Amino acid sequence: MDIQFLGGASEVGRLGMVLKRGPTSMLFDYGLLPRDPPLYPIPAPPVDAMFVSHSHLDHSGMIPWVTRREDIDVVMTPPTADVVDLLLADSLKIADAEGYDAPFDDRDLKAARRHYRTVDFADNVDVGDLEVTAHPAGHIPGATMYEVNGTETLLFTGDLHTLTTDLVWGAKPVKCDTLVIESTYAGRQHPERLKSEHAFLRKIEQIVNRGGLALIPSFAVGRTQDVILTLAKSRFEVWLDGMGKKVNQIYLEHPEYLRSVKRLRQAIHRVKEVHSRHGAELALDGEAIVTTSGMLDGGPVLRYIERIREDPKSAILLTGYQVEGTNGRRLVEEGVIDMYGVTVDIKCEWQKFDFSAHAGHDDLVRFIEGCDPQRVVLMHGENREILAEALEGREVLLPMEGKWYNL
Ligand SMILES: [Zn+2]
Repeated sequence: MDIQFLGGASEVGRLGMVLKRGPTSMLFDYGLLPRDPPLYPIPAPPVDAMFVSHSHLDHSGMIPWVTRREDIDVVMTPPTADVVDLLLADSLKIADAEGYDAPFDDRDLKAARRHYRTVDFADNVDVGDLEVTAHPAGHIPGATMYEVNGTETLLFTGDLHTLTTDLVWGAKPVKCDTLVIESTYAGRQHPERLKSEHAFLRKIEQIVNRGGLALIPSFAVGRTQDVILTLAKSRFEVWLDGMGKKVNQIYLEHPEYLRSVKRLRQAIHRVKEVHSRHGAELALDGEAIVTTSGMLDGGPVLRYIERIREDPKSAILLTGYQVEGTNGRRLVEEGVIDMYGVTVDIKCEWQKFDFSAHAGHDDLVRFIEGCDPQRVVLMHGENREILAEALEGREVLLPMEGKWYNL
């Protein structure tokens, strides 16, 4: 087999991997790096099929670009397909609002839907003389690892988490000859999840007791659900605003991809949703608001920050990694954010909490040992060398974008 990364090998974002064996070729993920404007991967060559690991735009954002050029199946799970639709439509709206050209238009997006071919975990798809099997990847509901079977076996993980959370079951290793695995957290460990959740709830209690509001910026897909499941263990008055509301409904429609649909349904029923300006005012009088965007780069969160940023009793509780170049990163590093083109000080308290949906360094090593591959290909990471060192005795490849590798 030969592989080539179109993006997302030595960096986190805009992932795309082409796999070729004889006359058969496939594309695994094809996403963009959300920036203003976004960064795109190398143009994809013609392939026989495309496989999408999960809905996050750095893995899925370029699907309509591919289906505009080629009449091929785009394979993914049903919750991934539904959330992909929502995120792609939103990415077009953002391009329009920010005034840059998107790599596809509304018509391409509508046409792309006809190419979706949904699979459930354990289903097989034949492409040429290769057989591809879907396995759960943890991470977020519907996230999939793909096992490619020819004369040898290759496993492509997409984004991966081995920890079972309130939202999803953790991924289990799959025996393979070649393991293509993400390495976002190479060299970094997560604090124990339960400890993070307790610290998070204690912090909110402190804020509420002093008469303040906890503003919790969260990604709509995965993180919002993690956060409201955690908040369901408390009695705070919680409001939800932004796209997370729609994602909640999509996930409830696919109960088999959740650890417990009952628990998620209860958690969703406990929060009050903001649907109007009046609702937003009521939310500001509540105790906690969960809203997009997770990196403070747009969405309702800015309106709420405007109202609490000078209030010493209130606080901003970040729940996700803040990518370089985002407003969230500016807050963390400089204590300021860009508010509709104006730099403003954030005078209220802010703090970061670890709810990561990616396997930490030791989790990755254990997972790799469990798959027991002859060859490990590390992708989707900025510190891959540290993980490579921990895999001494195995053949490890750190591919670069644009280069072909024969496996
Ligand atoms: Zn992801």
